[in-house]
Amino acid sequence: MLSIIIPIYNEQEILPELFRRVTQVLETIRMDYEVIVVNDGSTDDSLAVIHQFYRQNRRIKCLSFSRNFGHQMAITAGIDHAQGDAVIILDGDLQDPPEIIPQFIDKWREGYDVVYGVRQHRKESWKKRVAYALFYRLLREIANIDIPLDSGDFGLIDRKVADHLRKFPEQHRFVRGLRSWVGFRQTGIPYERDARYAGEVKYTFGKLFTLALDGLMAFTTAPLRAVTIFGFIVSFIAFFSAMLIFIERFLTVDVVPGYATTLISILFLGGVQLIGIGIIGEYIARIYDEVKQRPPYIIADRLGFVETEPPNDKREVKKLDKV
Ligand code: UDP
Ligand code: MG
Repeated sequence: MLSIIIPIYNEQEILPELFRRVTQVLETIRMDYEVIVVNDGSTDDSLAVIHQFYRQNRRIKCLSFSRNFGHQMAITAGIDHAQGDAVIILDGDLQDPPEIIPQFIDKWREGYDVVYGVRQHRKESWKKRVAYALFYRLLREIANIDIPLDSGDFGLIDRKVADHLRKFPEQHRFVRGLRSWVGFRQTGIPYERDARYAGEVKYTFGKLFTLALDGLMAFTTAPLRAVTIFGFIVSFIAFFSAMLIFIERFLTVDVVPGYATTLISILFLGGVQLIGIGIIGEYIARIYDEVKQRPPYIIADRLGFVETEPPNDKREVKKLDKV
């Protein structure tokens, strides 16, 4: 069986076309399937539309969050509940064409455990494109894992990869990073990323920025090291200039009052220290979030799932594993 996970946040205009294209593709591959729509606290009529499609096609299931928990959490919930031998993650705005799914499945049948889509061209504003390009290259340079360039969450994962991802207790999730981290046989398939079919972009600048920070911080501590190295460099400079000033004080009669240099160095160092504290603070905030051990998401309503559900609480999952 194949599971398709689709995170949805206020996409009522897109859903009919989405279901039409997804089911059309799924009918061509000879496999049983389930479509798990994760309704991430939509405030429009998305849920009603999903219910309507569920009545026509019982393979469409839905998990509804109690509020908006974010795209990555929606994907996480989908992976936690998927039953398929292969799990496909697909954006709900038709930017990821469902027509690529058969290619994913071909690669999976060849023996790959992770097949991800690699975006060829983005039909987005140049500012966003530059930001994405910089982010993925930065991540590649400084992260401890080899995250493929320009691959999003769109892709297929094998059952065993999904099972491993389910065991991750992390609260901040950068799914594409974790997917790469688990290893196994991975490959990419190039595809054209379409423009959004309808509606507004749901990833606000703030959400995108948080996602980028989560991605960086979850996979590297390089920023902390950069602060340390910078501290050393500044200290060396300070040490040598102190010696120079000391010598100058005894050799020359005419000591120029160094008002500007003093002020500049104080301000500069103050700024550097604040940045350093900020970077440390970002890590501490994440540590704090992790130790709280809150459930990563809350499901208010399920549609089409039988009662023997995999629990969404990570700690329960761990307990069950031990039994
Ligand atoms: N989405 C979500 N929760 C959110 C934001 C977005 O489930 O808080 C969904 C959204 O409905 C869409 C997908 O995630 O199906 C990608 O969102 P969007 O197209 O706005 O982002 P982008 O294409 O810019 O990555
Ligand atoms: Mg989109």
